[in-house]
Amino acid sequence: MTKNARYILEIINNSTEHLTAEQIYLRLREKNAKAVLATVYNNLSTLYEQGLIQKVCVEGYPDRYDKTVRHDHLVCKKCGKLSDITLEDLAEKLQKQIGVPMISYDLKINHICTECLAKEKEHGGDKS
Ligand SMILES: [Zn+2]
Ligand SMILES: [Zn+2]
Repeated sequence: MTKNARYILEIINNSTEHLTAEQIYLRLREKNAKAVLATVYNNLSTLYEQGLIQKVCVEGYPDRYDKTVRHDHLVCKKCGKLSDITLEDLAEKLQKQIGVPMISYDLKINHICTECLAKEKEHGGDKS
């Protein structure tokens, strides 16, 4: 593994957020000022292929990268914010039902986050 790949993996594993390639790039620059954005993209796709990181795709938002520790996601339909949630592991149940060998599953639960709900309340009353 190259030095940059190790740094990127470290950034993702130590983050509690869901970082985009650009955000990872900014953090990588603190460790390696010579890094370029293309390096980040290349390493992210290699790390992803190797199964060392996961990618969370939400339509309309840039891909975000995440650690591979098993967990699921809540996605805010308004602002695209991702929150981690650990639900029961459904792999076995799903495997029983699909009939073909399963590699993984990707569960995203749509909701409206508390910040967006609060904003809605603020603006909701004055529709006159
Ligand atoms: Zn939201
Ligand atoms: Zn996550």
